[in-house]
Amino acid sequence: MSQSFKKEDYVRAVPEKYEFIPKNIIKVSDALYEYMLDIGTSEPEHMKALRLETQKNSQCVMQSPVDQGQFMSLLVKLLGAKKILEVGIFTGYSTLWMADALPEDGKIIACDLSEEWTSLGRKYWEKAKVDHKVDLRIAPAEVTLKDLKATGHQETFDIAFIDADKSNQSVYFEQALDLVRSGGLIIIDNVLWDSKVIDPSYQDIDTNGIRELNESLKHDDRVDVCILAMGDGVTLARKK
Ligand code: CA
Repeated sequence: MSQSFKKEDYVRAVPEKYEFIPKNIIKVSDALYEYMLDIGTSEPEHMKALRLETQKNSQCVMQSPVDQGQFMSLLVKLLGAKKILEVGIFTGYSTLWMADALPEDGKIIACDLSEEWTSLGRKYWEKAKVDHKVDLRIAPAEVTLKDLKATGHQETFDIAFIDADKSNQSVYFEQALDLVRSGGLIIIDNVLWDSKVIDPSYQDIDTNGIRELNESLKHDDRVDVCILAMGDGVTLARKK
């Protein structure tokens, strides 16, 4: 940091009602985020290639950031996960991070509607030699999850990652809760939704779907919950 460093640009005061001590929390400026990526992430070449190819299209904001991919990879290893459910794949960047972190006999059941987007992921899963770990199901996720429940997969998943249509956030969460084992983890993406969750002028089905699940989780005694201000907001919910 040069002479331009001003402490107030990098720390934030916390509202009085929370009475935190010490009362400063890191505010992540672009420069600080860059530093964090530089020292804290190492993105394998095939993941970078998929990310760069995804960035060529207009919907690339739907892709998880590098630090989140690496974080999810770490979670897979920490939990010793072997079986993962992913709801909403887009071009398969987070799938690639998690598949890479799984052991050779691990499996991701990956749910999405789009042949087009997932075909890009498939190309890179093959290049990275993890395609044998990914079982892609092109169908409405609600139907795939119902099928899984009806065919003996209840309480067998170590991790479920929910990152699909936000209006159905609560539906997928309930289904995932049936499919994840006790002690397993449900990861929910986009829970802070570009700050729209705190702006009452947004009353669309996606924003309301996110708010509904966010608010219900605070009082849900079936899970232990933690929210991270990473990416667009990530909730971790551990099934008791
Ligand atoms: Ca997302």
